[in-house]
Amino acid sequence: MRVGFGYDVHMLVQGRPLILGGVEVPYEMGLLGHSDADVLLHAICDAMLGAAALGDIGTHFPDTSPEYKGVSSMVLLERTAALVGARGFRLKNIDTTIVAQKPKLASFIPKMAGRISEAMGIAFDCISIKAKTTETLGFCGRGEGIAAYAVVLLEEVAG
Ligand code: MG
Repeated sequence: MRVGFGYDVHMLVQGRPLILGGVEVPYEMGLLGHSDADVLLHAICDAMLGAAALGDIGTHFPDTSPEYKGVSSMVLLERTAALVGARGFRLKNIDTTIVAQKPKLASFIPKMAGRISEAMGIAFDCISIKAKTTETLGFCGRGEGIAAYAVVLLEEVAG
């Protein structure tokens, strides 16, 4: 078994859609980034790569590359899953926390888990997504950005 941890932050700005876990969440602001800035999927990618000791998301999908400009992070997640799978690891489960003061995310979580489940080929009940506020403290609490944490467990496949 191999454990991996990932963390990411993106800034909230006007004029961008808010994409979290591959789902567009209606809100007056969105996350700024080279890709669609899906902070949850980026944290999961980093956790997967971390567990396999394969570097990080910036190594594999550089934000200087035109190939990844505006790309859906679901594509990055699928490619990460393929990389990790090619190294002989199978994903067991994912546990995540999104830190956002606003908007309320609870009603979107099942859809996010469904998208991630499809992309990674693991059961819906192996994916946990939690949403927290910071009681208005810090940059998340002031609504300046959204953070995400992810932990994954990989199993080394015999062979
Ligand atoms: Mg990111």
